[in-house]
Amino acid sequence: MAYEYHRSGSLEEALVLAAGDDSALIAGGTDLLVALRKRKRPAPRHMVSIRSLPELAEVSEQAGSLHIGAGVPMADVLANTVVREHLPALTAALAVIGSRQIRNVATLGGNLCNASPAADSAPPLLVYEATLELAGSSGRREIAISDFFLGPGRTVLRPGEIMTAIRVPLPGAGAQSAFLRRSRVAMDLATASLAAAYTARDGKLINLRLAAGAVAPTPLRLRRTEAFLEGKPVAEETLAEAAEIARSEVAPISDLRGSEWYRRELIGVFLSRALRPRSTRMKGSA
Ligand SMILES: Cc1cc2nc3c(=O)[nH]c(=O)nc-3n(C[C@H](O)[C@H](O)[C@H](O)COP(=O)(O)OP(=O)(O)OC[C@H]3O[C@@H](n4cnc5c(N)ncnc54)[C@H](O)[C@@H]3O)c2cc1C
Repeated sequence: MAYEYHRSGSLEEALVLAAGDDSALIAGGTDLLVALRKRKRPAPRHMVSIRSLPELAEVSEQAGSLHIGAGVPMADVLANTVVREHLPALTAALAVIGSRQIRNVATLGGNLCNASPAADSAPPLLVYEATLELAGSSGRREIAISDFFLGPGRTVLRPGEIMTAIRVPLPGAGAQSAFLRRSRVAMDLATASLAAAYTARDGKLINLRLAAGAVAPTPLRLRRTEAFLEGKPVAEETLAEAAEIARSEVAPISDLRGSEWYRRELIGVFLSRALRPRSTRMKGSA
């Protein structure tokens, strides 16, 4: 695996370097280097580091949203007080990714751009309706995260395009969110995961958003389940019916991490746990 390593000093320089046919962007390298070592993708001639780019390194609050640089390591996102206070589902998801060592180098942008169906940051960012900021040689654009993933390892990123930031609208007063996840062992990818965000008003679910991970070719919103539950009081029978809809909305595979049946079951269980009134606090991994 011989390649030339480029440490770009500016976004503009990185975009020029990344435009070459035989280039790969590297942030923390926790996915890319593993894939290269396992020969799951061809080795590039040029490795373009975007890790130290100032434009990708900031976390700031801007007009009711949190702007998280795509190159910010998970550990720094996790340590941010606004994230911890306002985005409990994202906090819970980041806290279970890999290990402390992985989180010190792995970036939020890398987790999304790698496009694993099991990427733990994706379900929370889907329910928070994050916007992704992208920069390419032909200019900048923004895209809703729900339009970003195309399939395992595939996104709408154009060749050489760089994700610069993730913009997360900060939830209003009374909004709640949760993230639940199951894996076989520590440091393993999720067998299944689910994030929920909503406001409980007079015992009813308002502005409910649900998203699941590791149960379809991409992380996905559970829109039929959301529509069924919106405005309804949280009752056991309603949750049971909603869990059935959620199980039918996902399309898991059977692999070493779990069977198709088990993954569907987990989604139903997570849904009930996330929405029952006694458990509407922040959740960690299930
Ligand atoms: C031991 C171990 C445990 C792990 N556990 C988990 C886990 O529990 N949950 C989980 O979700 N993941 C887990 N991972 C996967 C990994 O750590 C994450 O996906 C990580 O966030 C990837 O970020 P990175 O900065 O390391 O990306 P890199 O490996 O540098 O890049 C990944 C891909 O994204 C592209 N890319 C990176 N940043 C950008 C950008 N800004 N713009 C455009 N393209 C970009 C790269 O070109 C590459 O194709 C684990 C990995 C390891 C090694």
